[in-house]
Amino acid sequence: MDCLFCKIIKKETPSDIVYEDEEILGLENIQPEAPVHLLFIPKRHVEWKGEFDQKDLQLLARLISVAKKIAVQQKIDEAYKLIFNVGKTGHITHIHLHLLGGWKDKIPMHNI
Ligand SMILES: [Zn+2]
Repeated sequence: MDCLFCKIIKKETPSDIVYEDEEILGLENIQPEAPVHLLFIPKRHVEWKGEFDQKDLQLLARLISVAKKIAVQQKIDEAYKLIFNVGKTGHITHIHLHLLGGWKDKIPMHNI
């Protein structure tokens, strides 16, 4: 499968890793849209299609939990956004959670 995130997970494509455990990888977004812009991806290739089974749901819950933990670690937990791009709003089908934050001045309150 020609999936950028699967290549990053296999370390075939370099990335700036900020978090790693047996199920999840956290990395810097190469085109940041906020002072801090990280991506959290499950190491298993999961997509937004069909029904999620219990394992998928647990993995999604862990993605959110890990992102929250890293937001606290990076001291940006006063204001941050967690975003999933689904379907045509995203380029990569492998599920990934965006963590955006670290604004010093005006915090963007709009969602799009
Ligand atoms: Zn993948």
